[in-house]
Amino acid sequence: VKKIAVLTSGGDSQGMNAAVRAVVRSGLYRGLEVYGVQRGYQGLLNEDLRPMDLRSVGDIIQRGGTILQTARCKEFMTAEGQERGAEVLRANGIDGLVVIGGDGSYQGANKLSKLGIKAMGLPGTIDNDIPFTDFTIGFDTAVSIVVDAINKLRDTMTSHERSSVVEVMGRHCGDIALYAGLASGAEAILVPEVPHDIKDISLRMKENFQKGKRHGIVIVAEGVCSGDVVAQQITEYSGIEPRVTVLGHIQRGGSPTHNDRILASQLADFAVQRLMEGDSGKGIGIVKGEFVATDIDKVVSSKKSFNLDLYNLAMRLSQ
Ligand code: ATP
Repeated sequence: VKKIAVLTSGGDSQGMNAAVRAVVRSGLYRGLEVYGVQRGYQGLLNEDLRPMDLRSVGDIIQRGGTILQTARCKEFMTAEGQERGAEVLRANGIDGLVVIGGDGSYQGANKLSKLGIKAMGLPGTIDNDIPFTDFTIGFDTAVSIVVDAINKLRDTMTSHERSSVVEVMGRHCGDIALYAGLASGAEAILVPEVPHDIKDISLRMKENFQKGKRHGIVIVAEGVCSGDVVAQQITEYSGIEPRVTVLGHIQRGGSPTHNDRILASQLADFAVQRLMEGDSGKGIGIVKGEFVATDIDKVVSSKKSFNLDLYNLAMRLSQ
């Protein structure tokens, strides 16, 4: 591998810029030429790529979003599109690619790998829904944003003795709700992985208020149902009328935390190293402190395991 390219794809996440920076500088440090592809696979098909130098990734480590921009690209879902993508890379003498994105983006990288381009996936998504990595790039920042929002809600809830339902991101994976819920002392955490009994939760909230608790927080992952529905059900069973806060895309913006910047830097450097060793078709991750490269076929056909111990701890501490 002599010349590599980097692209960001799918939904953006904080820390993607730190990952782009690390791919570029790690590649240059190792004597590679590095190209940046604008707007994901769409940009690849449009041949929207440019050489990157050390300065081209200056002053971005602290920025949210992605300087390479991101896109969803239907054409790249077809065999012809993928063949054309590989052709564009070959025509530019590029034999290695790092794709930063979610599982869809990984599958695109895998297709290119099968067409002879050495390609690696880096987990860039706030949801933490990619298997074979304990954490994805952006997750830590998203959790901090939720915790910070709940801190603010707590101030006003305590003054008014109110309860809140907070809806957070996570369609299939409840990790944002779980980690933010534990870190902010939520009374209930509703996630797609664990069934819940809303009647029981509502009655417990009522009892806690009667025992002198001055606020109640329920956190719900969007994949379970909307915050409005949860609030209506709580009112129905307990008479409590919670305020609903939907955090939405705020969770995907802002400056990445130091954890996300460090994770992005380490995973990107590891990806470049593996590419240089001739490895391909792998998703890069960190498992119990070790960097791992797992076949993308295996990554996309597995489901992220849910940390039930952490969930049970949050429930025990929320009495
Ligand atoms: P997020 O988790 O934020 O949604 P993602 O990477 O999963 O990120 P997708 O929209 O699923 O987001 O995928 C991004 C792009 O990757 C798609 O627009 C498409 O171009 C490409 N892609 C997705 N699935 C495949 C596939 N099976 N084969 C080839 N390319 C794919």
